Amino acid sequence: MIIDIINKKRLGKELSYKELDYFFNGYLDGSVKDYQMSALLMAICINGMEDEEIYALTKIFIDSGDVLDLSFIPGVKVDKHSTGGVGDKTTLVIAPIVASLGVPVIKMSGRGLGYTGGTIDKLESIPGFRIDLSDEEVMKQAQDIGVVLTGQTAKLAPMDKMIYALRDVTGTVSSIPLIATSIMSKKIASGADKILIDIKVGKGALLQTKKDANKLSELMKKIGEFYNREVRTVISDMNVPLGRSIGNSLEVLEAIDILKGKIKNGNLYRLCIELASEMVSMANGISKWDASQMVIDAIENKSAYNKFLELVNYQNGNIDNIQVSKNTKRIRAKESGVVEKIDALILAKASLELGAGRKTKEDKIDYSVGIKINKEVGSVVKKGDVLCTLYYNKPYDISDLDKAFVIK
Ligand code: URA
Repeated sequence: MIIDIINKKRLGKELSYKELDYFFNGYLDGSVKDYQMSALLMAICINGMEDEEIYALTKIFIDSGDVLDLSFIPGVKVDKHSTGGVGDKTTLVIAPIVASLGVPVIKMSGRGLGYTGGTIDKLESIPGFRIDLSDEEVMKQAQDIGVVLTGQTAKLAPMDKMIYALRDVTGTVSSIPLIATSIMSKKIASGADKILIDIKVGKGALLQTKKDANKLSELMKKIGEFYNREVRTVISDMNVPLGRSIGNSLEVLEAIDILKGKIKNGNLYRLCIELASEMVSMANGISKWDASQMVIDAIENKSAYNKFLELVNYQNGNIDNIQVSKNTKRIRAKESGVVEKIDALILAKASLELGAGRKTKEDKIDYSVGIKINKEVGSVVKKGDVLCTLYYNKPYDISDLDKAFVIK
């Protein structure tokens, strides 16, 4: 039976709900082995899935754990998810902005497995910040301050957690049906009324082409319709790192600078405004333009930053003590010109080598290391100018790192 199901998908045939349920729940209880699941995932990767199979697998993932009921919290709960990118710290900025405008944000995030840390790793770089809240604590905090950022509990779509870890090491992460089921099952299980997905496309992303990003967008909207949830998507560029820092502590400090109104330009600022505006527009049923005025005001009048402080205090964090490594190395331009491109992938791989991300599930992250970008796309540089600064704690060969900056 197990082999029949693998063979059926290998031949590009459609699997029934019963077959998917048998196979995936078999994996959860140990009767289907890692190597058998890997074979099926690869067959799905190559041959794809029909819509009915995708709805079925989403249901199987949701049913593998609890579904949170947030209906006791007044207001429309909008959740946001990113398909993952280099330097993506948007959640840290958006959640307090949106919550400061009265829209409840109860967000369960994951750790990074790709090149850099995930939102939870970034939050953990704030000394003392608790990311392991119980369901009761989540509910109380949501009622008290309207914003919660916590780790995905083991009870929420546990099957996705197991499958994602296997996909990560079997070259099956970038399958569009598997990405759609993984993300949508978690969002639906976490009790969101409406869902915003930031789909990254480009060198540092899971998806490399706009065509694939559009396919994923359509698929997620279809799953949303099936489950009666409004889904909106934003497709954003990930050829260039998002913002001016990569690495956990550095990214938190950059997010704080945006919330304090110190950074008001660049791709990170623009994306944060866009995503926060979409969330406020969805929650309040107003135009994106009107929502964007509210979002910008929340930064200008410091209510977003104050909400961030309230959130950090409530979860025991201390932003006065965020550690950044004292060991720095400057990467200088070997020629003069204008920065035409910054290769997100080269910088992501470098930050992984520095210890800002995990190579295996067991790796420990060094929160204090990373890369600060000193010259952004469009900057005029002279030979010898600093392009980026490395924060490190272990030796790292930097000889080729300037190649991440294309100067013309
Ligand atoms: N993020 C997820 O949560 N799942 C995926 O499959 C890809 C990105």
